[in-house]
Amino acid sequence: MRHAAPAAGKLRAIICDIDGCLSPESSTPFDVESLMRIAEHNRLAQCRGDRPVLTACSGRPQPFVEAMCRLLSNHTVPCIAENGVWMYHPGTNEYIMDPAITIEQREAVHDAARWLATQYGGRGVSQQPGKVASISLYHKDTGFLKSLEAPLREQFAANGWPLRVSSTWLYINCDLEHVSKGTGLDRLMASTGLEKERLAGIGDTMGDLAIRERVSWFACPANAGAEIRAHADYVSPRPEAKGVLDVLTELGLG
Ligand SMILES: [Mg+2]
Repeated sequence: MRHAAPAAGKLRAIICDIDGCLSPESSTPFDVESLMRIAEHNRLAQCRGDRPVLTACSGRPQPFVEAMCRLLSNHTVPCIAENGVWMYHPGTNEYIMDPAITIEQREAVHDAARWLATQYGGRGVSQQPGKVASISLYHKDTGFLKSLEAPLREQFAANGWPLRVSSTWLYINCDLEHVSKGTGLDRLMASTGLEKERLAGIGDTMGDLAIRERVSWFACPANAGAEIRAHADYVSPRPEAKGVLDVLTELGLG
């Protein structure tokens, strides 16, 4: 069921995915002009306290997400990185790994990464740098990359590596089964006291359903996949960061 946009004053934070929302998932440049306008929104939010602060919830490694928070002038609301592995607080500079991740599970991720490098490294499959308890795989031929999903699942099961295999537009993500954007957001909400009624969200793929389930109002940019659009209260006619700005306008914040 779609809901009308909530009163802006009621919201305290907007949980926003990065790839496909704040920036392109490809390696093309940031839409810096739009990001600067979002940063200005965040400056007003934190100075006046009359509008929600936009923070990030992403599968990207922690340094990428930290940099995005700093670029967007968010210094008050934690962000989620590496699909829930990390909660980072840009105000206190605390990096908090999910305490449910054990040393043995990190070793399993390491073992899987070594197997993937041995098996597919020579065939042009690269691993996104900077991840510590998950693996993201990239290949310039997306069709070839996606053909590896089934063999990966088989290999992980055969070795007892507790990894979930999922896809974004250009990557295969291998995440610990008990860690996700959802568990990351649960930690964020517990640590800040922010409740669903106080949160809005933005996402572009089904991995962002975890955001949808934890916010009172959810929007997508124009480039979002059909499946996640079906769960949105609002779909912007504009793509990526321009779409995020349009969502702020829809909330009466533009
Ligand atoms: Mg995305």
